[in-house]
Amino acid sequence: MSILVTGTVALDSIETPFGKKERCLGGSATHFSMSASFFSQINLVAVVGEDFPKEHIEMLSERNINLDGLKTEKGKTFFWEGRYDFDLSNPQTLKTELNVLEVFNPILPDNYKDNDILFLANVDPVLQLKVIKQVNKPKLVALDTMNFWIEGKNAELKETLKYIDVLTINEGEARLLANESNLLKASKIIREMGPKTLVIKQGEYGALLFQDDHIFSAPGLPLEDIKDPTGAGDSFAGGMMGYLAKKGSFEFDDFKQAIIFGSVMASFNVTEFSCDRLKTLTTEDIFDRYQQFRSLSCFEEITI
Ligand code: AMP
Repeated sequence: MSILVTGTVALDSIETPFGKKERCLGGSATHFSMSASFFSQINLVAVVGEDFPKEHIEMLSERNINLDGLKTEKGKTFFWEGRYDFDLSNPQTLKTELNVLEVFNPILPDNYKDNDILFLANVDPVLQLKVIKQVNKPKLVALDTMNFWIEGKNAELKETLKYIDVLTINEGEARLLANESNLLKASKIIREMGPKTLVIKQGEYGALLFQDDHIFSAPGLPLEDIKDPTGAGDSFAGGMMGYLAKKGSFEFDDFKQAIIFGSVMASFNVTEFSCDRLKTLTTEDIFDRYQQFRSLSCFEEITI
């Protein structure tokens, strides 16, 4: 199955206790596509400005990523600047410049309308809805968002959520969206907004999956060499959706494996700035790490 993705293709300036990078390749759709392209074919719809370096376009097009829907508009590329403290949890956003995103009107090329899976990476929920309205009944529609849109475009986001099957969101944002501090209660409130499946990302501690009355917890892999957590959430979603596209079925057990693959991809992405680690990653690395995740949390049934 192929995946249609929309979201931001960005230039990011990032500072962490382990270094600093100015105007490097970033964006929710970029991190997602880089990660998901290890599993399935990706059709990207997004916008960049005239300042977007050609080398990034070349690098993306050398992967399993179709760029027919990547538009270049007059003006500057979406820009995000963030800083992480020593615990590398939530970044402090120093600047968000929407730039060409403000005038972007996504029009899907004809060859984009029949994907089985639609992933709406973090971007303005109004744009996410415009893309939903142009596709021909995908089998699975998933969405990611963040506090910027939960606070800034709350009503629009809630409207868009009515069309969603799967929501991926981080812990703090789940509390914010549901206006409820208890995660179990928040998961019920959010699933009444539309998505029947909910994945709550818990940073270095893993992720929780909620579907009907089932809950599954994926561990976070303890890592020694984290440099830049930017894109962890998007590469997580890329691994998860990419695996589901490859598998071609969406049962609870498929989602359980999918969120492990999500955790695998995020665990690689955070070890270098931007998407640098994924540029050199191999399929063998991915499957080796999946086994590491298995042995980290696999335990036997008790027999007393
Ligand atoms: P995450 O996976 O949550 O760490 O997302 C990181 C990416 O999100 C960065 O590369 C940013 O370019 C992008 N980003 C930051 N703010 C926004 C926003 N308000 N809307 C869409 N994308 C954003």
